[in-house]
Amino acid sequence: MKYILTLVLACVFLSSCKEKQVETATVVTEEVTPAETKKQADFKVTPISHATMILEWDGSIIYIDPVGGAEVFASYPLPDLILVTDIHGDHLNVKTIEGLDTSKAKIIVPQAVADKMPEDFVPQLDVLGNGDSKERFGFSVEAIPMYNLREEALKFHTKGRGNGYVIEKDGTRVYISGDTEDIPEMRALKDIDAAFICMNLPYTMTETSAADAVLEFKPVKVYPYHYRGTEGLSDVANFKAIVNKEDASIEVVQLDWYEKK
Ligand code: ZN
Repeated sequence: MKYILTLVLACVFLSSCKEKQVETATVVTEEVTPAETKKQADFKVTPISHATMILEWDGSIIYIDPVGGAEVFASYPLPDLILVTDIHGDHLNVKTIEGLDTSKAKIIVPQAVADKMPEDFVPQLDVLGNGDSKERFGFSVEAIPMYNLREEALKFHTKGRGNGYVIEKDGTRVYISGDTEDIPEMRALKDIDAAFICMNLPYTMTETSAADAVLEFKPVKVYPYHYRGTEGLSDVANFKAIVNKEDASIEVVQLDWYEKK
């Protein structure tokens, strides 16, 4: 009897130790997960609408595709950098840029956008072709191609006209897709901390194609943006579900890009 009791107690003790060991091991594993240890992007994003946003990053202000009228930006700090991706009205509105105080700003654009900018802006334009890079205010900005792949959509964004961008500072890398499909250049991106990914039809891609590309280049965080198409808003919840079913470590961040009707 005494022997059995001792055995039972020993088993209880051993199993509780074993459980503790497992718990400890789990914690250690979580601590070394690359997604957890990788430096998080230390920037704040303010979604304005659709493709338009403001990044506040280490005291610098970056406007992405400012459209909608200068008054939209009246309550925000003035831009140091403006990045424009393409010529379409949801990305370039010359009147909006003219209405902003851009006296201290550099404006990074593809050639097709430069061609539409008034003469006065020429001294402050940095014209980047796909693959080109520019250093400004401690940021490195690289132009990434953006274009359609589906036969019926080729007319929307021809390869070489517009730029997506990777903005980098102190090892933190932020990707702005612009209007594109799941092109090889996106899939090949490395070490992206935050990715802004478009998904709207018929102009860019489905949430399924977007998720598939994201699962290949694995950003730490992904922000669905530019997801209003001719048939309404894309199913961003479906995008998140597909991404997280395959890889729960990718954080899908849903911001408020559209006014509630
Ligand atoms: Zn667009």
